[in-house]
Amino acid sequence: MLELKRTLDAKGHAVLEMPSGTGKTVSLLSLIVAYLKQHPLDVTKLIYCSRTVPELEKVIEELHHLMAYYEKETGESPNIVGLALSSRKNLCVHPEVSKRHDGKDVDVNCHRLTASYVRSQHHHDASIPVCSYYEKFDAHGREIPLPPGIYDLDTLKEYGKKKGWCPYFLARYSILHANIVVYSYYYLLDPKIADLVSKELSKTSVVVFDEAHNIDSVCIESMSITLNRRTLDKCTQNIEALGNELKKIKETDAQKLKNEYHHLVEGLRDANIARETDVVLSNPVLPDEILQEAVPGNIRNGEHFVAFVRRFVEYLKTRLRVQHVVQESPPSFLKDCLQTVCIERKPLRFCAERLRSLLRTLELSNIRDFSPLTLIANFATMVSTYTRGFTLIIEPFDERTPTISNPVMHFSCMDASIAVKPVFDRFQSVIITSGTLSPLEMYPKILDFRPVTMSSYTMTLARQCICPMVVSRGNDQVAISSKYETREDPAVIRNYGNLLVDMCAVVPDGVVCFFTSYTYMEYIVAAWYGQACDNGRGAVLLSVARGKVSEGIDFDHHYGRAVIMFGVPYVYTQSRILRARLEYLRDNFNIRENDFLTFDAMRHAAQCVGRALRGKTDYGILVFADKRFGRADKRQKLPRWIQEHLKESACNLSTEESVQMAKRWLRLMAQPFTREDQLGLSLLTLEQLQSEEVQKRLENQMAQVS
Ligand code: SF4
Repeated sequence: MLELKRTLDAKGHAVLEMPSGTGKTVSLLSLIVAYLKQHPLDVTKLIYCSRTVPELEKVIEELHHLMAYYEKETGESPNIVGLALSSRKNLCVHPEVSKRHDGKDVDVNCHRLTASYVRSQHHHDASIPVCSYYEKFDAHGREIPLPPGIYDLDTLKEYGKKKGWCPYFLARYSILHANIVVYSYYYLLDPKIADLVSKELSKTSVVVFDEAHNIDSVCIESMSITLNRRTLDKCTQNIEALGNELKKIKETDAQKLKNEYHHLVEGLRDANIARETDVVLSNPVLPDEILQEAVPGNIRNGEHFVAFVRRFVEYLKTRLRVQHVVQESPPSFLKDCLQTVCIERKPLRFCAERLRSLLRTLELSNIRDFSPLTLIANFATMVSTYTRGFTLIIEPFDERTPTISNPVMHFSCMDASIAVKPVFDRFQSVIITSGTLSPLEMYPKILDFRPVTMSSYTMTLARQCICPMVVSRGNDQVAISSKYETREDPAVIRNYGNLLVDMCAVVPDGVVCFFTSYTYMEYIVAAWYGQACDNGRGAVLLSVARGKVSEGIDFDHHYGRAVIMFGVPYVYTQSRILRARLEYLRDNFNIRENDFLTFDAMRHAAQCVGRALRGKTDYGILVFADKRFGRADKRQKLPRWIQEHLKESACNLSTEESVQMAKRWLRLMAQPFTREDQLGLSLLTLEQLQSEEVQKRLENQMAQVS
């Protein structure tokens, strides 16, 4: 935590690797909240980002504990507002809209009741429905700030219901003055959402990205677009529908179109008022200066714009008629577009925002039907905005079905730093943390930032509670490895099988296995597995690295006494998108292809095996079954807390030897282990904490760090 404090003092960024299940979240929260209270002018807000709703709820739970502790120690409740923000689906309280199961459905139906034009129509005609929760929030919700306290999604809903205010909009508004905000990565990383939700958060905030080992993939996903024939055909239908609507409105309310035209002359910013409720119409990634500019003359008029998009979609259709794979850069795509259909870069850049303005002017309630057209408009804006860091790949068919023509155009982001850069630029401290970030140097490179601190922490444990080993050969001495040439070798397959069976014979409870590619139906198997472990017989769950199980389920205690990683989980290297990204990393960041691939494989391997240990009282065997894991270059890329326990003598075991080792170790671990056993070692009582010896030890550590 000294390092974290140093980072906050220096107003810089940090990469911290801490094993999961050892109080990472509560430690981060304690220190940052304490800092926030002590230096209210330097740090005004903590923004804690995680991935899934259960993870967000867990953070809020830890915050509750922390606040209860403050209250107990100081006798008064801390004057702090902390809240979780999630999508409308999780926060809506409208009796009908909230019944919808699909998130997008909830968004669209909410939009039908809250869009600015619907509300203004309601003023003239009370029979047009609006959401009373939003109306009440709009009338009074902004005047009274949320009372101090920690609000999870349910508490927000209760509070919203009591007041008659929409909890979703209340939460979105309240994040501006809350001290602690807990929400998903996407609220900061996806430019479409970030622009809408997080734009006004103050610079003096500390941002924590928890479970951030895949943060680069999240960035890339949020910036990439895929188009196929179906999308383009639907787009043509959208354009027809839009043309008809335009004709209708021209006959009934031509003034509206004129007003829009005047707004567009003044610049997009003005055409953009009332965005709070128009979430479906949010902006992708237009740089601010563009929003100030006037929209180019040739797309200002609604009909001209529709004709313009029609031409662009026809052009895309011709581009999809390919026999071979085509890869090109955005500038060469734009050049071809200019030469073939005379479409220039500038109007393309405004496409997304121009379409949004038109959809708003036409007051269409079924906005979701226009999502293919919105996608194309976003693509037009992105391809003309970013000349670097992106590539276009057009494939004539899906690789799995090469005989069926199914052309696809991928507009792929190669550079994760593009999405994350605004976050690093904007907030004074960004903390990237996870249990598996090794090798740490990779993250500053691929995300293009300079951290003040990079640290990997290990656990203080009262006993050796992990037992890493590398199995390189079977009992018949045949080397085992998932490398391509030997993958189908019956001996390797048999040895992997024997390893699993023999391990199962000595491991009393659960054993988890990871394979290197995704083929199995993990969810169903996971359910069987849990049941078998619970009834005391033990079970084996077969799953795939990078799949859902490796990320979503915790194999704590008897759910995972051993994890076996069969082979090194290298990513599928023939993918064109990956190849292009590797080239980009080599040319721009000087990262060698192999270094990146090994780094990526090892972080996934560590992520899989790390699932076995979810707390200090837990224990589990981590089996790396591939002789390549024994090499120093691979081992060094494992998190420190695994490396520390992986002895040289356990790096080249046969199945028999590994089973013997597992047996011995499991017998040891099965002995009773109480809280008292940890006291003084990994757990300190208050007296021990205050004792001279411990104080001295801490001082020593402080001296080493500073
Ligand atoms: S305004 Fe709030 S309560 Fe009303 S429909 Fe939208 S999300 Fe639901």
